[in-house]
Amino acid sequence: MAAGVKRRMGAATWAGAMLLAAGGQVLAASKPAVTPEARTAAYFDSIVHDRAQLRLFLQAMPKGGDLHNHLWGAPYAEDFLAWAGEDGLCVTTPRPTIAAAPCDGPGKVPAKGLAQRDPALYAQAIDALSMRNYTPGAEGAEASGHDQFFSTFDRFGAAAVDNIGPMLAVTRELAAIDHVGYVESQANPNALHDFGAQAEGTAWNGDFAATLAALEPKMPEAIAKARREMDAAEAEAARRLDCARAAAEDGPCQVEVRYQAFVERAQPPSFVFAQMALAFALVEADPRFVGVNIVNPEDHPTSLADYSLHMRMFQFLAARHPTVRRALHAGELAPGLTPPRDLTFHIREAVEIAGAQRIGHGVDIAHETGASALLARMARDRVAVEINLTSNDGILGVKGADHPLALYRRAGVPVVLSTDDEGVSRGDMTQEYLRAATEQGLRYADLKAMARDSLEYAFLPGASLRTSACDPAIATPNAACAKLLAASPKASAQWRLEQAFSAFERAPRLP
Ligand SMILES: [Zn+2]
Repeated sequence: MAAGVKRRMGAATWAGAMLLAAGGQVLAASKPAVTPEARTAAYFDSIVHDRAQLRLFLQAMPKGGDLHNHLWGAPYAEDFLAWAGEDGLCVTTPRPTIAAAPCDGPGKVPAKGLAQRDPALYAQAIDALSMRNYTPGAEGAEASGHDQFFSTFDRFGAAAVDNIGPMLAVTRELAAIDHVGYVESQANPNALHDFGAQAEGTAWNGDFAATLAALEPKMPEAIAKARREMDAAEAEAARRLDCARAAAEDGPCQVEVRYQAFVERAQPPSFVFAQMALAFALVEADPRFVGVNIVNPEDHPTSLADYSLHMRMFQFLAARHPTVRRALHAGELAPGLTPPRDLTFHIREAVEIAGAQRIGHGVDIAHETGASALLARMARDRVAVEINLTSNDGILGVKGADHPLALYRRAGVPVVLSTDDEGVSRGDMTQEYLRAATEQGLRYADLKAMARDSLEYAFLPGASLRTSACDPAIATPNAACAKLLAASPKASAQWRLEQAFSAFERAPRLP
């Protein structure tokens, strides 16, 4: 197997290469059919009905990237309650919410020490700040999974807003536990919200160019503020994870993290446009930010009313900032949640007007007008869909055969698994793989292909390993490959994933 031969990273084309181990010794030359990958796939099939064994296997399996991960949604309620204690915040009673000090008024107790002082209230608070024990219609519970899910953000918001660093630390920690090597975190410095809020009072006249011109003089200062916030947050995360000491160890500090700057779609147009303009400018100014997104419930009345306007704003700003990529929440809707008309065009406009390179969720694709043509276009243009199985079940009640994952795969649209809000959902990336196997019938080769695609469609800069002269079957890259790996963060992450797969599949005993 000569190094430097161009090949696609398909499972079949690599089978032969896998016969050579690190260092080149021949492992199984006389039995070419049993590659480490084939052995691993056969093992997966043998344990797929043993849920606990499958969890063990999938936890250890390398998973590439998590491309749809909200910074505020990643921490668990226990983390927010701990930070609330550190920050001197309060927990309200009888319906627990994290609230500002002072904590000695009626219906407020200090968050600090709550777990020890009042374990019952602490447990209620965890339930209120997440999907744990959520039962529709129960006393004190929201009316639906959708309402419960989104209402948690307001309840823990006071402990999130000034804790970007601790949230980053938890994001890294969770990724490392799951063998996720790369996270694209939807993480806004507060400067982005402030910039939108300052513009909120400005009358909206629909003139994009004039509005942008009026905003531009204020943008350099806001960008500088945003970057300083992220500098401080990253330093705080590194301090909490003790990264100075753990620099060489495989763990949270080695997870590669980049950010998406996002827009709050439930806000009025002046707010949304200003925030979006700053988000694009920030991505252009700071290489830690690799794309823009749009958040808030897609079925919020303002999100629905302004949907097409927002897509045209993206179109306008993308033309001004052609290198800035878009991963847009679109089609996170289900029949009954909104009138049918709202299900017919969101994904299409995100692709055709906003020019999204990736779609978040895409759950209502089958309801889109011209869905087959849209699927064909997404397959042709390699518009990847970020699939969030746990979140879609919890918020929309869509799972199993109702989920469009199989539809996307049949159409040849690239798909990747992601967590969305793993802390709110009380899940993790391994659970997404587990659901893909047990509820969607995916097998080892399918999961491995999605893990690879999670880096191929990541917004990490640089050329892809897939189209390079690198041969990942050889543990030490040749000179040309080493040069590419040094220049391309994407290829470098892909190389690490391939080495991780190689080690995983060659283990004497598979987990
Ligand atoms: Zn999301």
